[in-house]
Amino acid sequence: MIGFLRSARLEGVKPSVYDGRVGITNPKESVVIVEQIWTANNWRNFNYLVVCPETGEALAIDPLDHIKCLKKAQDNGWEITQILNTHEHGDHTGGNGAMIAATGAQLLAHENAKDRIPGVDVGLVAGDRITVGRSVELEALDTPGHTMSHVCLLSQGNQPALFCGDTLFNAGAGNCHNGGHPAELYETFATQLSQLPDETRVYPGHDYWKNNLEFTLNREPDNVRAREMLAQAGVQDPENSLVSTLALEKEVNTFFRLHSPTLIKTLRDVYTDLPDHLDAKTVFLKLRELRNDW
Ligand SMILES: [Zn+2]
Ligand SMILES: [Zn+2]
Repeated sequence: MIGFLRSARLEGVKPSVYDGRVGITNPKESVVIVEQIWTANNWRNFNYLVVCPETGEALAIDPLDHIKCLKKAQDNGWEITQILNTHEHGDHTGGNGAMIAATGAQLLAHENAKDRIPGVDVGLVAGDRITVGRSVELEALDTPGHTMSHVCLLSQGNQPALFCGDTLFNAGAGNCHNGGHPAELYETFATQLSQLPDETRVYPGHDYWKNNLEFTLNREPDNVRAREMLAQAGVQDPENSLVSTLALEKEVNTFFRLHSPTLIKTLRDVYTDLPDHLDAKTVFLKLRELRNDW
């Protein structure tokens, strides 16, 4: 049940992190603490603390609710030394100033977001490694689409985890209204997100579980899994949100289900002029279009 707790412990980081230090024979040491913080604001943001259990050092991801994030850190004796903005939107960067003032933390963001986010200390490009304390290593993925300067963070190892900002949501995908492009978002899904291991845990920037599952059922009325999930407590209560995996997303997220016959059929009901052969990209773009008005 670990993956379904608000505060989930992820065992296993890249063995190389431990080479010559702790060693992979001590699995108890190779733990990453992930604290998902529900802001309960109108935008339904999730903030995150990713913590090294050895040193108590923490990375705060999009800490808009800096008060809740700071309190959580203080209550647990953690020290926030870094802040990561997944992208430049205000509901992700709005806590930076207060958080930096309180902690002196370094600010990390996409290299190309530096002009739009004040005070970035470290500009990230694809493949950059971010270390937190001694036991946590995260890889920056360059994931354009929602905006063109968006990063996701990947924690690799036995229990991989993806911090995906507004690129991937539970049962959904980010919109492209404010600086993004749907075609780029499709590329990100097709060439990066869908290639990650099925067991990868998904930690998005907002809670849209309920709306997105309802969209799935609108497009795929016979999606039994989505229907079952809609009633679950972890979907209804973001304070104790169900933490998804990519395997689960592939079952209930239309943006990963581009070959579903039902989905293609209901798409043809809306767009009557679609060609006989529908490629995955077209399906994705049409879904994104429909979701805009949902
Ligand atoms: Zn955004
Ligand atoms: Zn957002």
